[in-house]
Amino acid sequence: MMKRSFFGSATPAFRYAISPHKIEDIPMPEQVMLFVDQPKNRDRKYVIKIGDTIKTGQKLNVFDGEESTTVSTVTGTVTDIQTYRSDYGQTYASLTINTADDDMDDAVAALTQSPALENLIPYSHNFPGSPNLSVFEQSDSTIHTVVINGLDDDLLVSVNQWAAQYLTSNIKAGVGFLKDIPGVKRVILTAPERMLSVVNSCGAEISVIEETYPKVLPAFIMRDVLDTVLPEGDTPENQGVTFLKAEAVASIGQIISSKTLPLEKVLTVIKRDGSCQNVRVRLGTTLKTVFEKLNINSQSGDRVILGGPMRGAAVYSEDIPVLPTTDGVMVQSAEDIPGVSTDPCVNCGECVRVCPAEMPVNVLVRYLENGLYEDARELCDLLCCVECGLCSYVCPAKMPIFQYIKLGKYELSQIETAEEQDE
Ligand code: SF4
Ligand code: SF4
Repeated sequence: MMKRSFFGSATPAFRYAISPHKIEDIPMPEQVMLFVDQPKNRDRKYVIKIGDTIKTGQKLNVFDGEESTTVSTVTGTVTDIQTYRSDYGQTYASLTINTADDDMDDAVAALTQSPALENLIPYSHNFPGSPNLSVFEQSDSTIHTVVINGLDDDLLVSVNQWAAQYLTSNIKAGVGFLKDIPGVKRVILTAPERMLSVVNSCGAEISVIEETYPKVLPAFIMRDVLDTVLPEGDTPENQGVTFLKAEAVASIGQIISSKTLPLEKVLTVIKRDGSCQNVRVRLGTTLKTVFEKLNINSQSGDRVILGGPMRGAAVYSEDIPVLPTTDGVMVQSAEDIPGVSTDPCVNCGECVRVCPAEMPVNVLVRYLENGLYEDARELCDLLCCVECGLCSYVCPAKMPIFQYIKLGKYELSQIETAEEQDE
């Protein structure tokens, strides 16, 4: 492994856009799509069938033999069940549902009447911002610090910035809940100086951060706010720290204070001309519906990217739903797509200069494009990468470096899982 400091100083500073106050509410569509983390295999029999009625908040056990943790965000009738294969081969059961007026499942009433930590843990990831409370699940949880990010993890996206500024009472209730979790000693909300007047009364410790990308990513907040440099390949949780998005904390707060389920997700839509609009949709609304409501007609050659310009990934269908983690969607017209090339690296060194983790990206990319993932980890510190996407952004050869990195990390995790199973 290479020995060197973790962060460089030559990172360019991209400023965040200021979140617009205005938000457009898109009404409940006639049809939604829900992804259930329950892939089909030959031995499984359908429990949910086409024609079945589903209630809002109902646990979606599509197949027998395994308990699902996905709950329905709508009431309606199942009209189709398919398999959806995402990046890197993960598969989901995809349910298409014709919607009706909400009819709440009994489990919802139980949850909203008694929103204790142990009751929220199995459900919380289904709600906007996907709050992961399972890190507090073990009785010996070592999480002592919760960091709430009041900015978003990509440029042009302003969902969490919006939530921190305009969902203040829910954020306050969520902060109160987090402070009461056994073992939690600090709840910190990070925000830029201009947001201080609105976030100051949320009950969390406020930490002012620079409003520049990639300074808002967890590895930088660990270093700049908590004075902790993450060892290579380590997670904040191993250091006793967990990160939650502002929208996720507002979701928890809504359940606590309003005793209702948070089912509407805020999404930043980045249009072809670069303008941004925040919309609020029912979870499960498809991108196609969002585009129709905003009069965005996709044309041949357009590219749809889930996420923002630095870290987003292209998707090849608009028939995919807005999920609890979907913060941004970007439409690029054919002439604006920078293109991805298989041309060889020209050894300009731009990726090395820009990398905030000071990685030898030009060498790393050679291992990755040849599928030598373990060499990439051992010789080029692949796991030090903070996934900012700056290397891809600056590469004049348009090499898909960021995609190579994500694939490399995924393949390594698969290798590790296989090795653990063999032991
Ligand atoms: S994405 Fe690229 S620039 Fe960013 S840390 Fe990883 S290797 Fe460095
Ligand atoms: S920026 Fe692209 S072309 Fe330049 S050294 Fe890095 S990978 Fe090679």
